[in-house]
Amino acid sequence: MALIVQKYGGTSVGSVERIQAVAQRVMQTVKAGNSLVVVVSAMGKTTDGLVKLANAISPNPCRREMDMLLSTGEQVSIALLSMALQELGQPAVSLTGAQVGIVTEAEHTRARILQISSQRIEKYLKDRKVVVVAGFQGISSTTDWEITTLGRGGSDTSAVALAAALKATCCEIYTDVPGILTTDPRIVPEAQLMNEITSDEMLELASLGAKVLHPRAVEIARNYGVELVVRSSWSDELGTKVISPQPQSRSLVGLEITKPVDGVEYDTDQAKVALLRVPDRPGVAARLFGEIARQNLDVDLIIQSIHESNTNDIAFTVTTPILKRAEAVAQAIAPVLRSQNASQEEAEVMVQQQIAKVSIVGAGMIGRPGVAAQMFATLSDAGINIQMISTSEVKVSCVINAADCDRAIDVLCRTFEVNRQESLSKNEHIPIQNQKSPPVRGVALDLKQARLAIRQVHDRPGTAAKLFGLLAQHNISVDMIIQSQRCHVVDGVPKRDIAFTVAQIDAEEARRVLAEAAAECGWGEVVVDSAIAKVSIVGAGMVGQPGVAARMFEALAQHKINIQMITTSEIKISCVVAQEQGILALKAIHTAFELGSDQQIQVPA
Ligand code: ADP
Ligand code: ASP
Ligand code: MG
Repeated sequence: MALIVQKYGGTSVGSVERIQAVAQRVMQTVKAGNSLVVVVSAMGKTTDGLVKLANAISPNPCRREMDMLLSTGEQVSIALLSMALQELGQPAVSLTGAQVGIVTEAEHTRARILQISSQRIEKYLKDRKVVVVAGFQGISSTTDWEITTLGRGGSDTSAVALAAALKATCCEIYTDVPGILTTDPRIVPEAQLMNEITSDEMLELASLGAKVLHPRAVEIARNYGVELVVRSSWSDELGTKVISPQPQSRSLVGLEITKPVDGVEYDTDQAKVALLRVPDRPGVAARLFGEIARQNLDVDLIIQSIHESNTNDIAFTVTTPILKRAEAVAQAIAPVLRSQNASQEEAEVMVQQQIAKVSIVGAGMIGRPGVAAQMFATLSDAGINIQMISTSEVKVSCVINAADCDRAIDVLCRTFEVNRQESLSKNEHIPIQNQKSPPVRGVALDLKQARLAIRQVHDRPGTAAKLFGLLAQHNISVDMIIQSQRCHVVDGVPKRDIAFTVAQIDAEEARRVLAEAAAECGWGEVVVDSAIAKVSIVGAGMVGQPGVAARMFEALAQHKINIQMITTSEIKISCVVAQEQGILALKAIHTAFELGSDQQIQVPA
């Protein structure tokens, strides 16, 4: 008899009729000979309603009381679903997170799961009952037994964690769309259903704004090898499979706080080309990378930093053998850009060889801001300066001097407890299934980010460690991080600008913390911009495929959308644009990669 965990989201249990429809589906699954644990969310928009109520009373409600309030939503739906099942003659029992023994950290409103007791559920399953569990909630392990919640959208995480703890055959996430689509069908109705996606790709998409799955749910599926599928609760379509690599065996204790870093990777065959002071207007990145793509040159990392006096810096890395050709393209384009540069500043090409990329890799770093900060601190303690930083959900990469690479690998392996012999060079870490993956699997839009920039921070080892260490202490997760290529020497001290994005709700606190540090450390001004949108493309197949970035930038240029920031990892490219252009940008990119289909996806209101 197979054990299946099914999760039904808010819209899927949004009314009495919907709850009855879910009960029917659950019954059919039982009749087919399966044991069933069902995780449910609060009905419809209940959680949003509760948040509104709290905000009507306090602009900044205490996080403990928020958990007390929000956890009630799921308690309603488990009881109702259990009753609906009993009405159909199907024995069922509802349990809150605390009753199951979903033990979490004592971090209110964003607790991570530490462990799940299986005895009580197993006892009921043996009695042939369907167990209906409240998603999104748990209980802290301290003596106080506090009710905690996992963060918005966290029922997905409850379901996958239960599947891992119970060693279920599979975990099915039922929602209001037919599965994982190439983008949000509420914005782009032409979005197409995918049959499958790798967990690495889904981790990126989920963290970049595709809320169809909670990123932490994907992380658990990846770490524990849970079979995961996303389907519609309205139809019998097969939905989308999320494919994970064979996992290393892991303890179920400390479920969501297992070792954050699984591996250290490096690539010593890199060179950097930077174009300084290019004009800040639509089409510049498209022009540069379009030409590079026409020469069939593959670019690895790309970053574009914040602009200062109407000019930008764009830098990219390539492998050493193609450096000369990439440099030639940049040199040929620089004068063209220069002549159009209203401020008459000179665009300039800067090349740097003998650089290396070192990366830490692991799904456990999601939502844990301290991990990147720890990497920067480790490099700084070893006296290693960081030239470029690239972050993805499961990887942080730093470009450093090639001469420092060996030492960097050593210290990183020590800090993150990775066996030195197991650190991998570039050729050994081709991402899984990239031969099968299309260059772009999906695109995402995030309208809830803010950009912070700090002018003139010291260009020396330890600066990134200090800055991001401070934010980590305040539990603020940082997304894109970009150091400007331009170095100003102020009073004999080399200084650079640094910019990054955080969630809008964290922006004010991040500004306050950094403004204090800036005053202390002699850094420049801290600037916040909340009117930004981040558009991203994700696909494991873009590795080694020239021209993907160029196509994205060209699509934006055609719609006269200016790119404010660019960052990439191996399997994603993200651009920051003005907030009011976010939706247009998403649509333009979706069309450019021909991701749409003629059949429009119908979504419930
Ligand atoms: P649930 O309540 O079932 O958890 P959510 O609202 O959390 O549902 O997530 C489903 C929604 O995610 C869809 O209705 C859709 O608008 C949105 N979405 C965003 N990006 C995607 C995507 N790439 N594929 C499918 N849905 C997406
Ligand atoms: N009810 C919670 C929310 O709306 C959890 C969830 O639905 O996943 O965020
Ligand atoms: Mg959800």
